[in-house]
Amino acid sequence: MMKNLTQKIFFGFILGILFGILLGSISLPFNFNQKIISTIGFGGDVFLKTIKMLVVPIVFFSLINGVANLNNIGSLGRIGIKSISIYITTTFLAITISLFFANLINPGKALDTNFDTANLEVSDPPSFFDILLNIIPANPFQSLVEGEMLQVIFFAILIGSALSMSKKGGGLKKFFFDFNEIIMKILSIVMIIAPIGIFCLIAKTFATQGLSSILELFKYFFLVIVVLLIHVVFVYLPIVKFIGKISYKKFFVGIKEALLFAFSTSSSSATIPITLECLKKNFAIRQNVASFTVPLGATINMDGTAIMQGVATVFIANLYGIDLFFYDYLSIILTATLASIGTAGVPGVGIIMLGMVLSQVGLPLEGIAIVMGVDRFLDMLRTSVNISGDAMVSIIVNKTEKK
Ligand code: ASP
Repeated sequence: MMKNLTQKIFFGFILGILFGILLGSISLPFNFNQKIISTIGFGGDVFLKTIKMLVVPIVFFSLINGVANLNNIGSLGRIGIKSISIYITTTFLAITISLFFANLINPGKALDTNFDTANLEVSDPPSFFDILLNIIPANPFQSLVEGEMLQVIFFAILIGSALSMSKKGGGLKKFFFDFNEIIMKILSIVMIIAPIGIFCLIAKTFATQGLSSILELFKYFFLVIVVLLIHVVFVYLPIVKFIGKISYKKFFVGIKEALLFAFSTSSSSATIPITLECLKKNFAIRQNVASFTVPLGATINMDGTAIMQGVATVFIANLYGIDLFFYDYLSIILTATLASIGTAGVPGVGIIMLGMVLSQVGLPLEGIAIVMGVDRFLDMLRTSVNISGDAMVSIIVNKTEKK
């Protein structure tokens, strides 16, 4: 089903490009161009609104669920703190590297956009303390209603932690688990119209943007791939070699099956059993380490996702001709780190969580539609990076625990 849907999305994407270019280059009588553009614009908006509708519930329920299920976080103590710190540090590095390269290459800058930014409210950059203070909600329910992501995350982490500490709350835990499942189910229902939605959004973009969009979209696509590679080569491999004392070749050969599985399923969660198997069989990682670090990593460690979000944010800002300031970048680093923690290890969630990063810095969520067309393949690649990170951290924690 998924494979089928993937093909349809890709088909809608390609068709949208062709149709958009055609529509942009011919001039029909009776102002027909404009009428078609408004019709496909409507189709695109329907899809977009249904996706937007799911952002807050997905963040809220998947995060509560993730944190509440960290049952052993207290008893695992040192291993827990160690792996969480490495996970967060590498994600932080990932997003920083990605912003650096995105600013160097500036994808989307060359595009002379006709995007309507007139009624976009881009607020003044808040101060650093404001950003921190703003994480605490005045009223958590208001934060949910208004979709204040950092506040929603803060509150979700608190509920999740309280649930995991509390001896009662078993029924509530199950409630959040079930609700999370239901929300993910709704997402899969909404994705049924994705091929048409993508077609409409892309066709409208190309009809109003012309050919230069393609080039810029390719720039985005390749830049994400290059930064993913840079992160693996300059962050993961040196750590594996110098701290883990394992050669590059042995590392890759040892996690080969997990990499392939992650690539073909685009799901860190689905890959958990294979990653565990590879780590135990090929690196003799102890059970008590791997059984904690791997599922935890598949839940909170998404460096590949953070990289995509960094490049995509700069790309979308460029497309809409919106300048990002220093505090915006700090905000992006913080939000993307949290977004990747909150991203469920299943296909396509990272791109939806991108909405959180965009809204945090006042960028239009419509930008998601533009990058979504090429996201399927990027998802496969970033999931492979995500699980390489999980394997790397497991090896390091196991190694240092031995001492
Ligand atoms: N598919 C990714 C994963 O499972 C998450 C994402 O969409 O970025 O790791």
